[in-house]
Amino acid sequence: MLSVKNLNAGYGDVQVLWDLSFSIDEPKILAIVGSNGAGKTTLLRTISGVIKPKSGEIQFKGERIDGCSSHHIVQKGIIHVPEGRRLFPELTVDENLLMGAYARRKGKNLQKSLDEIYELFPRLAERKKQKAGSLSGGEQQMAAIARGLMGDPEILLIDEMSLGLAPLIVDNLVDVVSMIYERGATVMLIEQDVQLALENSHYAYIMDTGRIVKEGESKELLDDPEIKDIYLGVQ
Ligand code: ATP
Repeated sequence: MLSVKNLNAGYGDVQVLWDLSFSIDEPKILAIVGSNGAGKTTLLRTISGVIKPKSGEIQFKGERIDGCSSHHIVQKGIIHVPEGRRLFPELTVDENLLMGAYARRKGKNLQKSLDEIYELFPRLAERKKQKAGSLSGGEQQMAAIARGLMGDPEILLIDEMSLGLAPLIVDNLVDVVSMIYERGATVMLIEQDVQLALENSHYAYIMDTGRIVKEGESKELLDDPEIKDIYLGVQ
């Protein structure tokens, strides 16, 4: 479904991703974990077309997408919920969500899509006419994910899902991620909280200095002595 081969990418002369390869064959919840500056955000940005790779290939459903604009990549069904949420603060929740439908759902029944998404996020439904800038951090993260869902993703990339949010909100987001997967999409999560990421994903990639240094079933990685030592703070 998604295949990344020998990807090299960065910013100007600064190379961040080094010869990175992986592939996803079926819908899953995937986690990308690793220390600060490992290149996780850069990887998501490269997949979603914000950054053009220096070399390597990205294929989605058999078609190369590494030369495509981010707009085209959204149209193909890969949607990125960026770090920092990037909502339009002066627009209402409803208006922000409708923006997410712009590239993919033209001509589709937008009200029906909105209603379905509000069923997943009852807390947002209560605040649909409120300005996005007045929402709490957790509600803004929900709105950012909901806006991504309005684009009808086959792959949803979520950067720093839980950062700075209260545990109850995080539980709620984890449930939503499961529901997105149950509806048939792949969710790729970047998480600072390695424990949370591994407990709530099927498969995980560990990144360090722009490379994938380890990958495997998340449950197995939770028991891996090296992962425990370096990322989970237990021996
Ligand atoms: P974090 O969790 O801290 O966001 P990360 O694993 O997501 O880390 P990236 O944000 O991908 O890491 O950053 C990887 C490297 O790329 C870092 O050294 C960072 O300084 C550099 N970098 C990120 N954005 C830019 C940019 N716009 N211009 C130049 N260098 C950048």
